[in-house]
Amino acid sequence: MRYILALDQGTTSSRAILFDHAGCVVAASQQEFRQIFPQPGWVEHDALEIWSTQLAVARDCIQKTPIRQEIPGPLAINSIAKLAPDAGSIAAIGITNQRETTVLWDRKTGQPVANAIVWQDRRTADRCDELRSQGHAELIQQKTGLVLDAYFSGAKLEWLLNKVPGVRARAERGELAFGTIDAWLVWNLTGGRVHVTDVSNASRTMLFNLHTMQWDDALLALFNIPVSVLPTVVASSGVVAQTDAALLGAAINIAGLAGDQQAATFGQACLQPGMAKNTYGTGCFMLMNTGSQPVTSQNQLLSTVGWRIGAAVGASRNTDTYCLEGSVFMGGATIQWLRDGLQIIDSAEQVQALAASVPDSGDVYLVPAFTGLGTPNWDPYARGALLGLTRGTTRAHIARAALEAIALQSADVFTAMSKDADLPLQELRVDGGASRNDLLMQMQADFSGVPVVRPLVTETTALGAAYLAGLAIGFWTGLDEIVSQWRVGRRFEPHMSLDARADKLVRWHKAVTRSGQWVEPRP
Ligand code: ADP
Repeated sequence: MRYILALDQGTTSSRAILFDHAGCVVAASQQEFRQIFPQPGWVEHDALEIWSTQLAVARDCIQKTPIRQEIPGPLAINSIAKLAPDAGSIAAIGITNQRETTVLWDRKTGQPVANAIVWQDRRTADRCDELRSQGHAELIQQKTGLVLDAYFSGAKLEWLLNKVPGVRARAERGELAFGTIDAWLVWNLTGGRVHVTDVSNASRTMLFNLHTMQWDDALLALFNIPVSVLPTVVASSGVVAQTDAALLGAAINIAGLAGDQQAATFGQACLQPGMAKNTYGTGCFMLMNTGSQPVTSQNQLLSTVGWRIGAAVGASRNTDTYCLEGSVFMGGATIQWLRDGLQIIDSAEQVQALAASVPDSGDVYLVPAFTGLGTPNWDPYARGALLGLTRGTTRAHIARAALEAIALQSADVFTAMSKDADLPLQELRVDGGASRNDLLMQMQADFSGVPVVRPLVTETTALGAAYLAGLAIGFWTGLDEIVSQWRVGRRFEPHMSLDARADKLVRWHKAVTRSGQWVEPRP
């Protein structure tokens, strides 16, 4: 069996990518799905659409599987095998997913009780305020490593239980199952037989204790979550189930599960403490490996589980890796807004040429706080701001300010991470859709004062999920093999002077302050 199939369920699209033993992409398929914005600050997905697009791309990818060349046996069988798309050549499936997005569904019918509440959704901001005013923020951070914020699943699940009519009673009767998208996909891929989540996804729910690596009774009580809805927590690398054979043409081992950012960190081979990556997708997420113990941030970063490598057969111990994380909610999505909202570009790719048509942003700053601000400000009431406009401002300046905003938000996270790290960070590995933008990568190197390194294979999220699955079944022999497969594509060195960087950051922070606390918290 020659390939690993990665299912990469992102915020804007579902993807399936087939990797060979060298970690190279051999087939891929992708489908976008609907973003639902029912009210300002609310973001939803249809969980059934997530499942149907994910299944469709998995099937499409399997159809594209390179056909086996050498098959032992009689010639007639050989030629039939050559024509057939070959699910049997897939050794295992690894799943990676948008994190925190919350689904609650009926165990019997498989029907979600409501749309999934997406990680960007701010509807639980006032509930988080209430918990903060009751003095729970510190306990939550101690137990979960997370900053009390509407971003995480716990309050979203509580909202579904309290606000969707009849749902709490059904949950109390044991009829409902909760999951983040990993759990939802495994449940569907196994025909409703298996209800599990991995430690990296569990660590984003605000219900999971980072130190005991178990659901936390005190947090379940705080959010009033019935234990019966919870999935079983499993390792990120380890065989958890087999797919229902009717779905993909064979029963395939599901052997890897991880949240998208943790998977990308793994796929970037950031396997030693002190190594960091930044992913430029819808949002930007910087993770630094902190080794086998969680580190408490002094600078508004999150402590989170990186991954758990399940104990090999015969071995007694799992191996756990933790990370520090900074989360920026609007990264590449800022460029989507230039395209779909402002309509000053037709495609995301056009932003580079437009921004490069002016030498600088003309002192224009865009603060993309469209869904509040994450690290390090954690302000759910901030909203987007465009500052410094003059009669000379053109769409090119706005495009440049948008790119700068992505890099400046990430520079703030990088600064927080550097303060928390014992050793200065040597380089920043990058990936994600917007990391293709060379101008943006150069801005990042300049604003952060560190070399930015883009690997040859930028599909690191899917690759990380593939690696986790492949390790579990011996497709890859160990971490050394993964490290040896990582290759530099392009390196961006910082060129900006220290004074110019300091000036830029002062102006940026002034702009960020202006966007803060714009919408009033509800009384
Ligand atoms: P996700 O996995 O979060 O759905 P991707 O990694 O697929 O995201 O990246 C898509 C994002 O990257 C979109 O928000 C898009 O606007 C942005 N993007 C794509 N190409 C470019 C580019 N050349 N310059 C800047 N942003 C880009």
